[in-house]
Amino acid sequence: MRVHFWGVRGSIPTPLTPLQYKNRIAAIIQRITPKDLESEDTREKFINDLPVWLKSTIGGNSSCVELVTDDNHFFVFDGGSGLRELNKELAGIEAPVIHMFFSHFHWDHIQGIPFFENIYNKKATLHIYSPWPSQRKILARQMSFPYFPAKWEDTNSPKIIYHTLKNNKPITIGDCEISCNKMYHPGNSYSYTVKENGKKFCYATDVELSAVTWQEAQKNKEFFKNTDFMILDAQYTVEELSEKPNWGHSSFCHCVDMAVEWGIKKLYLFHHEPRYDDKKIYTILQTAQWYADSIKAKDLEIFVATEETDILI
Ligand SMILES: [Zn+2]
Ligand SMILES: [Zn+2]
Repeated sequence: MRVHFWGVRGSIPTPLTPLQYKNRIAAIIQRITPKDLESEDTREKFINDLPVWLKSTIGGNSSCVELVTDDNHFFVFDGGSGLRELNKELAGIEAPVIHMFFSHFHWDHIQGIPFFENIYNKKATLHIYSPWPSQRKILARQMSFPYFPAKWEDTNSPKIIYHTLKNNKPITIGDCEISCNKMYHPGNSYSYTVKENGKKFCYATDVELSAVTWQEAQKNKEFFKNTDFMILDAQYTVEELSEKPNWGHSSFCHCVDMAVEWGIKKLYLFHHEPRYDDKKIYTILQTAQWYADSIKAKDLEIFVATEETDILI
């Protein structure tokens, strides 16, 4: 399986501001020495040696993750603003077949849909999956007067097939087995696992793993256990989580605790808080890695989900 992140921010798209951009340039200039400018190689080395939060960006789009299976099925998890970027990848494919899975329908997970070119492509086939029987109505409501000029039903372009999933009842697509699991979030959300050729992928965003950590870990262990590649909501610091109980998001420390209990191999922190800049998010990553070391979680690798990253599972 291959995973590509198109949107990793939580709650609302978060582009770099002009001031953040200017401060970034200033911080880079301060680091340059005459030696760094001597040749193309030294300039290249200078850029490569910059801190990751200066030489790149986590990205500002809201939740959207692509998964291409070994047998070439095309899956998309959530349709946040990152979905518009996915147009690039699908451009030139005349009659794509796309399987879209929704964790839930909060705005940051559907706002890219009106800008997804394949909803206007007569030759495309869209399979839409979630446990909500009313998913067609929910998606149509976003694209109705006065919110958007084109209507979901009027586009009537692609073939759209709706699939209502049942909690913890696996379905099969090609060689993959896909399951969903109900999680704690205002109005509920669903996490997904995909199993193929002995590998297990998991997408678990907008989930609150908090004071009831241990019970949550035990309750969901069967669903999450031994995941090779896990995308998990890590929107808050521990302090912020204590100020926002029942907002439906997790802290990175709780993510690490759960990941250890569930036997996760690679953990990608996801649904980043819009108020945190890139530097703060990389600080959170460092703290999460430090915490994992301190509890001797030797088998767990932790990463930050960043836009336009392509990873093989
Ligand atoms: Zn969200
Ligand atoms: Zn939500």
